[in-house]
Amino acid sequence: MMEALEKVCDAEKKLQDIFHQIDIVEQKNSEKVQQAFSLERLEEADFTGTTGYGYNDVGRDKIERIFAQVLDGEDALVRSQFISGSHALCVALFAYLRPGDTLLSITGKPYDTLDEVIGLVENPSSLASFGVKYHQIDLKDNDFDDAKIEAYLKEHQPKLIEIQRSRGYATRASLTIDKLARIIPKIKALSPKTIIMVDNCYCEFVEEETPLTVGADIMVGSLIKNLGGGIAPNGAYIAGRALLVKLAGERLTLPGEGKEVGPSLGINKQILMGLYLAPSVVSASLKTAILTSYLLEQEGYEVSPKYNDARADIVQTIAFHDREKLISYCGAIQSASPVDSFVKPTPAPMPGYQDDVIMASGSFTQGSSIELSCDGPLREPYIAYQQGSLTYAYGRLAIIKALASIK
Ligand SMILES: *Cc1c(COP(=O)(O)O)cnc(C)c1O
Repeated sequence: MMEALEKVCDAEKKLQDIFHQIDIVEQKNSEKVQQAFSLERLEEADFTGTTGYGYNDVGRDKIERIFAQVLDGEDALVRSQFISGSHALCVALFAYLRPGDTLLSITGKPYDTLDEVIGLVENPSSLASFGVKYHQIDLKDNDFDDAKIEAYLKEHQPKLIEIQRSRGYATRASLTIDKLARIIPKIKALSPKTIIMVDNCYCEFVEEETPLTVGADIMVGSLIKNLGGGIAPNGAYIAGRALLVKLAGERLTLPGEGKEVGPSLGINKQILMGLYLAPSVVSASLKTAILTSYLLEQEGYEVSPKYNDARADIVQTIAFHDREKLISYCGAIQSASPVDSFVKPTPAPMPGYQDDVIMASGSFTQGSSIELSCDGPLREPYIAYQQGSLTYAYGRLAIIKALASIK
């Protein structure tokens, strides 16, 4: 343990400049949130919320305008009726795609929980079962394959293009706003009617700009990740062009009622506090990830991203190439958690995932991955996907333990 602590202190000296850059982004995003709260004149009465149908939920509507402003969108749908990010992505896809339409992913295979939504894995309720076609263009050298995308768009006009920024359960880099700013105008020039939808899970507040700032039409994310700040009890958001947000509302609830209904059931204050804290929590998560990357690379493990790589998300991967090492690393993270620290994580099947998954998540909110969590599918090369930490101090504590455990 002592040896691990010394290594951490040494690492922090070397990481000073990188941590300072993270502080600057945190400051800018905090300013954005504060300004949105002021502009919308947030007041205590907004915390009250509604029950039943949820008509005239002033706080909920204010939350949606605040999210829209913070994310550079025209409008937003921010609801606890979304189970999580996967559900919001599913609602968006069903809201925009009709039989005969094509969904094109330009970032390879989408996140595992969308396999049955799209119909890559047989499911009688999938988009494929409604006659929605799916095409895919893989990334090239961790970036968009511009040539293939342009060639495709000269032949076809897909209804919707999906861009997933975070790596999901794949081994590739996350996609920075710079890269989106390069590809989106090319898509718009060749296929102006195509809806560009961004799966922004894990990417909020890592940079100052959002996908909407650089021309995406709609973005989707989870409230048990970055923007929930560890406080939101569940939910997700869809933000972007007003017409598209409206269509998503009509799919989430029902045509004709859309965004007008949906009770907030008393969680307005938690959603707002979560958003308020999110820039700081994301900053703590990034520092924890970078510390992990630095230390585990020193120990000889393959890490991605490296400590000094550009990051678009809060995910850190460590390839153990060893089933038992993955299990014991996750065990150490679990033992340093606030809740269920006495539990030993074991690999098990998960709904929506094709392999057994091991998950260390001793979080206040079930499955929350803005809280420090570590998971991975039990398949070669036995990669741990680690993310989150509500504070840097707790993240640091867990990493010291995890480092000692794999010795
Ligand atoms: C986590 C994640 C999702 C799903 O979000 P949940 O809130 O876990 O349902 C979708 N896409 C990506 C890239 C993710 O990281």
